[in-house]
Amino acid sequence: MISNRCKNIEPSEIRKIFNMATKDSINLGIGEPDFDTPQHIVEGAKKALDEGKTHYTPNNGIPELREAISHKLKIDNNLDVDANNIITTCGASEALMLSLMTLVNKGDEVLISNPGFVSYNSLTQLCEGNIISMKLDEKFNIDIEEVKNSITNKTKCIMLNSPANPTGKVMDKSEIKAICDIAEDNNIIIISDEIYEKIIYDKKHYSPMGFTDNCILINGFSKSHAMTGWRIGYIGINENLNKKYDLIENMTKIHQYGFACATSFAQYGALEALTGSQNCVNEMLNEFRRRRDLMVNGLKNTFKLTVPDGAFYVFPNVEEYGNGMEISQKLIENNILCVPGIAFGSGGENYVRFSYATKYEDIEKALEIINNLFE
Ligand code: PMP
Repeated sequence: MISNRCKNIEPSEIRKIFNMATKDSINLGIGEPDFDTPQHIVEGAKKALDEGKTHYTPNNGIPELREAISHKLKIDNNLDVDANNIITTCGASEALMLSLMTLVNKGDEVLISNPGFVSYNSLTQLCEGNIISMKLDEKFNIDIEEVKNSITNKTKCIMLNSPANPTGKVMDKSEIKAICDIAEDNNIIIISDEIYEKIIYDKKHYSPMGFTDNCILINGFSKSHAMTGWRIGYIGINENLNKKYDLIENMTKIHQYGFACATSFAQYGALEALTGSQNCVNEMLNEFRRRRDLMVNGLKNTFKLTVPDGAFYVFPNVEEYGNGMEISQKLIENNILCVPGIAFGSGGENYVRFSYATKYEDIEKALEIINNLFE
């Protein structure tokens, strides 16, 4: 009964880990901020509900929100993206799906970093595309020469994710630019997942769209404003790319039939998130930085690790003690939830992902347990 399309993809390993949680577990597996959504954003959505804004919105989102996103892209990223070239989606997750569904034909090749965020591989498989792995070096850099060599006439897109899940890596300007040059030379579209843009500690964020028109920019509110359950994200493209392929119109077809629109009152909350005070974003960033430092200092004498520049994950190499799956199992048996690196692709086999989107005191407790286990 079940379609091959569905049968061919595996359930997320991360979900399986969550199911193993007990009430005593310290959760370093979770991929979402532990903070509640800031109150002024909640009030924005409540007001919308009180005002009866409970109907379908235009498919691509309320104009005020698309204008605010366009303004954000100009102010934060110096990008010119017209509000008409923005689609408000049900989270970055839908934005990823729309992008791949719109571009990928059976047999088309999609370059995906390995390890990389779990959805990229599965969504590519759903679209019957072929996954081409971009291997990462010890510092989680993409091998540019290898990318060049892996381009064929079937290559359709390159997935980029900076800051990255699971590695915490923020790509350098030169690395991004080199990939953009490859995309331009070969008429490939970069799908740039920038969901962790606001969680960067020491570096600067560069969107590939600053260097090439061949870019679909994806972002959202889940991580920046602690709004995971609201399900609001967006896609932005520039006018040149839109003119070439009528991309917004094409994506809107899938968005309309699959989703109609993002949730009305959640869009008003997102509008408040962009137009209200951004102090909350900085406060959360400062707390994440404190936890990152705690985590890195606590783990660096036990495991080999690269200090993460962004997101809220640390991805140590654990091979001195076993592979990532063995170490995760041992940790989970000792009430520390974490995710084996293999969940993010074969390149993650010897790694474990710890999230520090959890309370400082819990991280302290977890570090004590981890260090006792691997003395
Ligand atoms: N991209 C990456 C890299 C992520 O880590 C996540 C969430 N874990 C998403 C996209 C999905 O975000 P959203 O909640 O906006 O769907």
